[in-house]
Amino acid sequence: MRVAIISDIHSNLEALNTAFSVIAVKNVDEIICLGDVVGYGPNPNECVEVVLKHTQHIILGNHDEAAVNLATAEYFNPYARIAAEWTNKELTQKNKELLRKLPYTIERHGLLFVHASPFQPELWYYIVSFSDAQKNFRYFTQPVCFVGHSHVPIIFSDDLWTPDVQRGGKYIINVGSIGQPRDHDPRLSFGVFDTETWQYENVRLEYDMKETARKIRIAGLPTILADRLFDGK
Ligand code: ZN
Repeated sequence: MRVAIISDIHSNLEALNTAFSVIAVKNVDEIICLGDVVGYGPNPNECVEVVLKHTQHIILGNHDEAAVNLATAEYFNPYARIAAEWTNKELTQKNKELLRKLPYTIERHGLLFVHASPFQPELWYYIVSFSDAQKNFRYFTQPVCFVGHSHVPIIFSDDLWTPDVQRGGKYIINVGSIGQPRDHDPRLSFGVFDTETWQYENVRLEYDMKETARKIRIAGLPTILADRLFDGK
């Protein structure tokens, strides 16, 4: 079984369509979305609908939660909060209902999938360091937990010396972000995992970010949300 794992689309339709066009030729059996379908970008409804059409499972992200419950956007930075308010106005009732029903975690093929962290997933903790990862390894029993949230693709192992994904190890794998990469590489990022061979691939692709940036400006969203796409941060 080959599973594609996408995360943090953030209403970026150009990146999302590019990712799906490549996933279509990657011989993938299942697609799982780790959340943050909306927030920051200009096409929230289209992204919800495209993700719903192409993926088998979707998990709730903090920006999805904020878009349907603005009280939870209180701790967001000003740009994220403006985007959450804009997204809340844009989203159709049907798409809001859909986002409200999403779960915090799912288990598939004996693996765990969560937006932020296996430890208290509803509190949106970041896993950005080895010590963050070490703490989280205690809170799941599956051999692999796939996460998003930081927008930085990385593999954490519970053994410092084996960064490659191999059967028998225990890992937290961040698949990176489709719509707003933050590792100083502006190309979109997602993961493909083979549940039989345990081969893991982090896919990076160029997409038409000029078009996404143009739409962000036209929508009246903060221009920093357009500019950061080109820097990948
Ligand atoms: Zn995100």
